[in-house]
Amino acid sequence: MMSEGAETRYQPKKRLFIGLLGIACAVVLGIAFLLWWIPSVGLVNIHPALPVVFGAVLAVLSLVLVGGLSLLILTLLTGRDLFFSERLRKIVIRYLFPGIISLGRLVGVDRDTLQQSFIALNNQLVRAKRIRVSPDKALILLPHCIQLFDCDIKITGDIQKCIRCQRCDISGLAEAAAERGIDIAVATGGTLARKIIVEKRPRFILAVACERDLTSGIRDSYPLPVIGVLNHRPNGPCFNTSVILEEVRFVLDEHVLPVSIPS
Ligand code: SF4
Repeated sequence: MMSEGAETRYQPKKRLFIGLLGIACAVVLGIAFLLWWIPSVGLVNIHPALPVVFGAVLAVLSLVLVGGLSLLILTLLTGRDLFFSERLRKIVIRYLFPGIISLGRLVGVDRDTLQQSFIALNNQLVRAKRIRVSPDKALILLPHCIQLFDCDIKITGDIQKCIRCQRCDISGLAEAAAERGIDIAVATGGTLARKIIVEKRPRFILAVACERDLTSGIRDSYPLPVIGVLNHRPNGPCFNTSVILEEVRFVLDEHVLPVSIPS
């Protein structure tokens, strides 16, 4: 069981996205009402039944939209796969994300906070699917900045070259992967990350990175299920970053089956 602190960090700022989704629901209903009300004043002059027909069409469209958003909110609140979590994830990743980012900026929320919220939302939708893959189908992707800047060992390409001196989190991450028989790789950018994914063909990815890289990684990798874990940047961006190992272990235990011991 993960500690309360780690669990809180694992699902950060989910409420922000839910709040923005609620606002989106209200906006949809407001626009639908205006679209019905304004022409209906004139439509009645064309045919007396037209305002009712137009209103019915708009009501159905609004119900579908608000129903989808409500299902999404319910999935997030309950943590259960409410029928369509994969389709919901597709809608969120492909269509809702840009809209929610614009809406968030309009109400003065900064990009990092919005991206944290998006990552938390994505994680929740992936978790709701209750995926469990064998170790050979899982992949851990890390940013290069997790490695200690002063370390002379070149771990890009083969993280197992790390001699586990414990001066940075590569040591613990390599150990967590090795004891579970999971592939682990360091990607120096999006292009290399894509290349690694194409080569290894995983069915589940745990990615560690900053808000920006996780957001683009999750969106680029869709429909692959990716759980994003944010790194810590006490020394500024892209330099000697770290990660909560307990959080990484928790995600792996949740989504990767234990390595089978040959009898
Ligand atoms: S833990 Fe590995 S990567 Fe990190 S400083 Fe030590 S040898 Fe280098």
